[in-house]
Amino acid sequence: MCCDSKRRFLLLYATQKGQAKAIAEEIWQQAGAHGFEADMHCISEMDKYNLETEKDPVVIVISTTGTGDPPDTARKFVKKIQEKTLPPDHFAHLQYGLLGLGDSEYMFFCNGGRTVDRRLQELGAQHFYDTGLADDCVGLELVVDPWIDGLWLALKEVLQLQEEKEGMNNAVGAVSSSLSPAPHAVHELNLSSEVQNLKLEDERARGSDVLSQKLDDINFVAPASNTEPSLVYSVPPLSQCALNIPVLPPEYIEVQLQDTQGENPHLSSLISEGTTFEVPVTKAVQLTRGDAIKTALLLELDIADTVFEYQPGDAFCVICPNNASEVEKLLHILGLSAKGDDFVCIKVKQGTKKKGASHPQHIPERSTLKFILTWCLEIRAIPKKAFLRALVECTSDMGEKRRLQELCSRQGASDYTRFIRDSNVCLLDLLHAFPSCKPSLSLLIEHLPKLQARSYSVSSSNLYQPGRLRFVFNVVEFPASPSRPVSRKGVCTGWLAELVALLLHPSKNVPDANGEGFSTQKISIFPRPNNAFHLPADPSVPFIMVGPGTGISPFIGFLQHRQKLREQHTDWEFGETWLFFGCRHQDRDYLFKQVQYLTFILSFLENGTLTHLKVCFSRDSSTAEVAPPKYVQDVLRLYAKEVARVLLKERGYFYLCGDKKHMADNVSDAVVDILSTEMEADKLEAMKILAMLREAKRYLQDVWS
Ligand code: FAD
Repeated sequence: MCCDSKRRFLLLYATQKGQAKAIAEEIWQQAGAHGFEADMHCISEMDKYNLETEKDPVVIVISTTGTGDPPDTARKFVKKIQEKTLPPDHFAHLQYGLLGLGDSEYMFFCNGGRTVDRRLQELGAQHFYDTGLADDCVGLELVVDPWIDGLWLALKEVLQLQEEKEGMNNAVGAVSSSLSPAPHAVHELNLSSEVQNLKLEDERARGSDVLSQKLDDINFVAPASNTEPSLVYSVPPLSQCALNIPVLPPEYIEVQLQDTQGENPHLSSLISEGTTFEVPVTKAVQLTRGDAIKTALLLELDIADTVFEYQPGDAFCVICPNNASEVEKLLHILGLSAKGDDFVCIKVKQGTKKKGASHPQHIPERSTLKFILTWCLEIRAIPKKAFLRALVECTSDMGEKRRLQELCSRQGASDYTRFIRDSNVCLLDLLHAFPSCKPSLSLLIEHLPKLQARSYSVSSSNLYQPGRLRFVFNVVEFPASPSRPVSRKGVCTGWLAELVALLLHPSKNVPDANGEGFSTQKISIFPRPNNAFHLPADPSVPFIMVGPGTGISPFIGFLQHRQKLREQHTDWEFGETWLFFGCRHQDRDYLFKQVQYLTFILSFLENGTLTHLKVCFSRDSSTAEVAPPKYVQDVLRLYAKEVARVLLKERGYFYLCGDKKHMADNVSDAVVDILSTEMEADKLEAMKILAMLREAKRYLQDVWS
């Protein structure tokens, strides 16, 4: 390979929501500055690359979806490399580095990347660079940035070794194709999510715009009296140091507004997952008392006139819009308030430097500006550093410019985490805090991600209530903070709560009996079936349900279904059923305890559908001599013998549902302890049994954040 020419590597990405693709594009962009040329492809484009014959190093960026699956775009690839007939040296010629993306709030963190990594190793491929596992829960950039920084040195070394090997082989003229690759120094990288581990290296500076501003050139953002940093203020040393800021992402979109007549597309065109159904909301009930910390609502949908099908345990998706007043504010800031109904014509800029630039898939070919801001773009998304970098260019005030530069710089990484990521700051918050920042519409379309439909677990049974579907959710609240002048509600839950306000407060209108009668509100939904989280096929098998808070939701569906089966099949044998539920206060947020118009838990207990109900309250005070258990895992431990019997002797099932990963971890720790005590085995053995139960799909969990 000629020293002057750029050295090639193959860059593959497997993306679900666009993160892995954006990171691959960042690598592709930086490659040039480091003297490399990345041949970038989506991993699904298997006709464009061939790992079987690939000689150059391979870099893979891969995300994780669902319960630890590789993204849909990687399915074919994973299936292919998992073929059992492949020999153990199938990829012995391959040198690769892998960056996995995941979220530790979910089970099986980074499992998409781990699966591919493990299999490539089994097939003889070699790491030329340590695998990076980035956690969206604390900030992908904490691992992604240093991983990319270290990549260039690792690539240089592996290519040098390859060149030396080729040179040697040419010299002796004895090339043996069966030789495994020469041993090489794997570039060690201790990747961690700890901010303090980030340090600047010479190598890094080459990939970024190095911004060394003279101190007297800039307006200091922090007034002398303000010693506390905030979203808009910085303090020394950050406010005085030279900054390494990311490369300015190339623009690639051109927008024209047309004042013409027309129709916006149907919402079903916004999803690629199949058919959507527009269904009326027939009932809404607040399951928590007014003074509960969180407000839980139950909604009922009328699906009778549709072919929508579900089983208890399934989830489904709700297509939701952005908040209307936030859309208006954004239009106002963009100076486009009068243009909301104009149609937007989007073109890819001619000659753009963005690799693979194309019309964003989530923006319809023909729709109005308001439609795009309402239904297509996640305007609440936490701005990525590349977006901040682009916003710098649209900011006229020098002080604001500098602060935005700091927030996207390496030196400002902890300020980014603290004031943007952890504070859940969105574009509107930024535009409010930095009033001289005036981005263009095209920039927003380039940087704002797709507005995702939100998933909910079904809380009903089609047997018990044919033609109806119920679900339960907590209204997400973001309190006001120094970075956020006003409090906000979650995009979807806030919208739903507003939509059903009349159903919730029928006194303001005249409802019919059962609180029904306001069925005019409709929402668009589509199915998201769950392959495993279903009742045991054999009704005689016992099962345990653990569902604190809104985690109880799918189990109401299970119990309704079971009750109907018992009524319809009096000759069948039914196994015992256990429900472990927990909440803060018995009289404030004990969901389904006693709600008008609804089936409530105690009725299942009374009619024998539920054989054991165990509840706990984490914030209620007790005068009992022995304090009662606070959390579901504590109650499980009290029933250790029964839990072990159901799982081990009676081959029962264990279901866990809830909105927090740490709850799931605490419960699985409790189960490990129970198994270890009851089997008189050590912890490792108990963990193996739990892994087997998971594998056999008898320990199932549905956990979201
Ligand atoms: P968004 O505007 O998207 O905001 C939520 C984001 O804010 C999250 O990233 C969260 O980490 C963060 N956040 C939440 N609260 C705060 C806070 N107080 N301060 C700062 N940040 C915060 N949810 C249910 O309620 N019931 C269900 O049955 C249910 N089932 C699900 C099933 C599946 C398979 C999945 C994947 C998710 C499920 N969820 C469920 C979660 C649901 O999809 C939504 O994420 C949730 O309702 C919030 O949506 P939102 O648009 O209102 O909030």
